[in-house]
Amino acid sequence: MIYFDNAASSRPEGRAIEVFSVVNAEAFGNPNSTHGFGFAAKRIDEKARQDILRALKIEKTHSLIFTSGATEANNMAIKSIAFQYKNRGRKIITSAVEHASVLNAFYELRDEFGFEVLVLPVCKDGYVLPQTLASAMDKNVILVSMMAVNNETGAIFPTKALAGIVHKFPKAYFHVDATQAIGKVKFDYGCADMLSCSAHKFGGFKGTGFLTFRKSIQFLPLLSGGEQEFGYRGGTVNVAGNAAMAEVLKSHIENLDSNSEKVKELVCYLRDGLSSIAEIEFNSPENSSPYVLNFSFALHKASVLVEGLSEKEIYVSSVSACNSKGEPVSNVLLAMGYSKERAGNSMRVSILPTTTKEEIDTFLATLKTLLQEVNPR
Ligand code: PMP
Repeated sequence: MIYFDNAASSRPEGRAIEVFSVVNAEAFGNPNSTHGFGFAAKRIDEKARQDILRALKIEKTHSLIFTSGATEANNMAIKSIAFQYKNRGRKIITSAVEHASVLNAFYELRDEFGFEVLVLPVCKDGYVLPQTLASAMDKNVILVSMMAVNNETGAIFPTKALAGIVHKFPKAYFHVDATQAIGKVKFDYGCADMLSCSAHKFGGFKGTGFLTFRKSIQFLPLLSGGEQEFGYRGGTVNVAGNAAMAEVLKSHIENLDSNSEKVKELVCYLRDGLSSIAEIEFNSPENSSPYVLNFSFALHKASVLVEGLSEKEIYVSSVSACNSKGEPVSNVLLAMGYSKERAGNSMRVSILPTTTKEEIDTFLATLKTLLQEVNPR
């Protein structure tokens, strides 16, 4: 098979599987138990927490809560902050191209709890311009949530500049959904007051992730329970999953530059190959994350092509896996100003440094054959 859907989920790396098995076999105690075996598990968990903070170079200023992934981390950052700080102001801001776990959390706060929600438009390259955010800010804003890299297009947000604008307002916190960025695209992780991640996007396991937070922040827990995770997130901790996540994240951050060079070369090769197909229009901006390439078909139905590729065991996606049960039109591409036809006929290819040119060649050849076999829409 050829797997080009790594932005949806990537194969757990060998090192993650190894760490997970060893920790589960040898340190399966409950890290909150007050005996030696529990303490041993706790030490492994705390090491994972510190290793991640150190890898992100934010160990002095930030702490970290382990979560079940980015959906939970996003919900926690958004709802817990809104509930905790609602007396400071009731205005919260996000962008039109965020993941559903951010947008729907905002809509719930608006519809069920009366918060004032502002959803900012993006520029034609798919990110929020600093001046757009600057003109939306005022003293009632308590939270701004902006992704670092878009999951459908790979568009890179100007995170540092956006953080600078938010931090001119002392009551406002800046949350970054870094799910598609971490270990792949360089940015200053410390400029975010809170940062969400999911391990299965970088070779860890589904069901593990984290939210970093500036040490001065307090949360109202979403999951009420025991005193785990500073009392902010009850529930017995997944020590083995967390240790595996820390292990792979460290190596991704250490190797970010060399991996990024490899992926850039591969994505250029892919872009060149696709450029020879006249009906293809690229939606990913030129300077986007090299890990994601999004393009539309002017004549064919993208969902039929995705299915045709799938029959040949080549896996890509047409819209974000999280949206694929709903209306098959990309709200991200619509927000970038593209037509409904173009937004409804996009394909996303997401690769890794381990992708080979031979795999890209097979993908291109199979796609070209399909375009001749499948009737235009
Ligand atoms: N944010 C972004 C940008 C994502 O791409 C995803 C996964 N598609 C998520 C959040 C949610 O991650 P998870 O499903 O692992 O909770």
